[in-house]
Amino acid sequence: MLISCEYAWLPDGLAADVELEIDDGRITATGHGRRGTRLDGVTLPGFANAHSHAFHRALRGRTQKDKGSFWTWRDQMYHVAGWLDPDSYYRLARAVYAEMVLSGITTVGEFHYLHHAPGGAHYDDPNAMGNALIRAAKDAGIRITLIDTLYLTSTVDGAPPQGVQVRFSDGDADAWAQRVEGLGGTVIGAAIHSVRAVPPAQMRPVAEFDGPIHAHVSEQQAENEACQAVHGCTPTELLHDQGVVQAGFTAVHATHLSTNDILRLGTSYACFCPTTERDLGDGIGPAGRLRDVGTRLTLGTDSHAMLDFFEEARALEMHERLASQERGHFTPDELLRAAAAHDSLGWTDAGRIEVGARADLVTVRLDSPRTAGIEPQGVLFAAAPPDITQVMVDGRVIVRDGEHAFLDVPGELSEAICALF
Ligand SMILES: [Zn+2]
Repeated sequence: MLISCEYAWLPDGLAADVELEIDDGRITATGHGRRGTRLDGVTLPGFANAHSHAFHRALRGRTQKDKGSFWTWRDQMYHVAGWLDPDSYYRLARAVYAEMVLSGITTVGEFHYLHHAPGGAHYDDPNAMGNALIRAAKDAGIRITLIDTLYLTSTVDGAPPQGVQVRFSDGDADAWAQRVEGLGGTVIGAAIHSVRAVPPAQMRPVAEFDGPIHAHVSEQQAENEACQAVHGCTPTELLHDQGVVQAGFTAVHATHLSTNDILRLGTSYACFCPTTERDLGDGIGPAGRLRDVGTRLTLGTDSHAMLDFFEEARALEMHERLASQERGHFTPDELLRAAAAHDSLGWTDAGRIEVGARADLVTVRLDSPRTAGIEPQGVLFAAAPPDITQVMVDGRVIVRDGEHAFLDVPGELSEAICALF
């Protein structure tokens, strides 16, 4: 298949009239010209959503009653977590992943901890929930890295899981590792939910996992204070001491970090989830300081308070401006690199428009009310998901003329969510 892009964002920047030869899901040649199927507008590499909890999408627009607090949000979140089973989670996740593709996302990293049945009993297939997510992604046309999450305790000092949290626990890390061995069919990652949910003595199987390793780190000040009180160190220091912080490690949120934490993260990844972090009132993490020490930044939509990867990318810059009262911290190339960091999810051959890469292409029109008259280089600062005309994942067109090619996304979301309340 030969296509030509009016503009394409190549590894060394934006170029006009770019021809791409695509064969068997990969880009096999690039050149200058206008031959083949024409894609008007700017074509970007597919985005990588490095942090998702698919079921949190059910909370959008539902947790703001009486202004809404962290606790109204958590009550609703636990309500949804208590109801889902493999069938209903499959339907909800398929709709959420389809919404992601409409936002230009071609790989999702699903930070999955809703493992077991209500009451904590195992399903006949102990990975029924994880397998439902893998199937949902496949059926929505998106790649998934299933980041299977270890969750054992409810507090930093080791209290047992409470209420719906019993669905999250395998009992101990060895039982978790044994269950995870049964997963396959896509890239599997491992996660420590947080220092609240995993005692240090249980962290080793995750630290030794062969694949992407993630953990929620210092999302709220209270987590830091509890960790200092129990362990006498920060969450980052604790994870570092246990060998969890390594080259393939992603610190999710990384909001409230000390200078020592920033140095310890070094060349690991830090995943910012700006629209969720502002929705939950978490704070603004030190994105610029992390970048300056070589930490690779990634982006996630986490609770899906919004599903707009343009907004996540520009918010990295915008939040830094609010915190510093200065403009100009990240270049558009840096923002796009954060938005397309598939390598943090174990897909090292995606996220760049170049020969040999997976053909993940997101085409954004330049004639919408938002994008008309802009410079194409400014697309990340102007566009929204409705401006995406086409999304290709592994060479297959999943979004065509701005619509999902085979799923009724609003209908499926509405049906799946309304069934839970
Ligand atoms: Zn999260």
